[in-house]
Amino acid sequence: MDGENKNCLLIVDDDRLSVQILTHILGPDYEIYTATDGLSAVEKAKEYKPDLILLDIIMPIMDGYETLLELKNSEETCKIPVILITSLDDCENEVKGLSLEAADYITKPFSDKIVKLRVKNQIQIINQLRTIEHLSMIDQLTNLPNRRSFDNRLRIEWQHAIREKTPISILIMDLDKFKYLNDTYGHQCGDFVLQEVAKIFFNSLRRSGDFTARWGGEEFVVLLPNTPLSGAVDFAEMIRSSVENSSIKYLDDYILNITISIGINSLIPDQCNSIDDFISLADKGLYLAKQAGRNRVFSLKQGD
Ligand code: GH3
Ligand code: MG
Ligand code: MG
Repeated sequence: MDGENKNCLLIVDDDRLSVQILTHILGPDYEIYTATDGLSAVEKAKEYKPDLILLDIIMPIMDGYETLLELKNSEETCKIPVILITSLDDCENEVKGLSLEAADYITKPFSDKIVKLRVKNQIQIINQLRTIEHLSMIDQLTNLPNRRSFDNRLRIEWQHAIREKTPISILIMDLDKFKYLNDTYGHQCGDFVLQEVAKIFFNSLRRSGDFTARWGGEEFVVLLPNTPLSGAVDFAEMIRSSVENSSIKYLDDYILNITISIGINSLIPDQCNSIDDFISLADKGLYLAKQAGRNRVFSLKQGD
């Protein structure tokens, strides 16, 4: 297995021999971090973001249950599955561990094979979950992030802009006369055009925080954190002219001249502003851009 693709485990046990044995069993298949007390386990979990934690219960100062609670109470670590691995082999403790949301419970002395298989099971689950999470954030046609993904990102950037008192800009972009294109050349052609313009949008992003997504249908959005209106207007003009000059070729037969209209809004938000209003003003800009003849950029605000 390629080192970079290995899933990562954190092994926590105050008994160094147990750590050594588990590292020996699991080391060939996983990248291993270790800790010998609860406090440093929580710190390492936050720092290294392991895919799975193997956690002893009986440890001095902070036992496995307390450690598990700490992990589950922190937003950074609450989703990491934890397998309790302990000499406490009674039903009561197992019930307690599983009730505290441990993913599994292994008793010592353990069989190497069982440890390997139970770890593999949990890793499979977490990998499948990640695949589903990824798919739920991506638009299948264009491979751009979808609306759900955009909404998440917008909420994060919005809060960041409030804290830092920095401007945030949004562009809502709609293909012009797209229905005509579908009706004339067919739905497949329409799909192809959506894929091509999505590439233009994605390739237009310059800064690491800039984000584009398919908003739905033939509408796309761009989020420009830390960008005032003037910068957003320049960016929108650039993207509008890129699409206008792209002459998309379909099936070697047709050169399609596609244009887009863009509505913009920009704001240094505070607690009194709402994301819905922020979006709806950009949407009004888009409506006015359409009314004014399409293939243009419109903002309801004066430039800064
Ligand atoms: P306007 O310039 O005012 O935006 O006109 P328009 O024709 O682009 O807008 P309208 O809202 O009338 O039509 C949008 C069309 O986009 C209708 C819908 O069938 C089509 N559409 C939405 N999603 C998809 C898609 O995934 N694939 C294809 N091929 N067409 C889509
Ligand atoms: Mg112990
Ligand atoms: Mg349209």
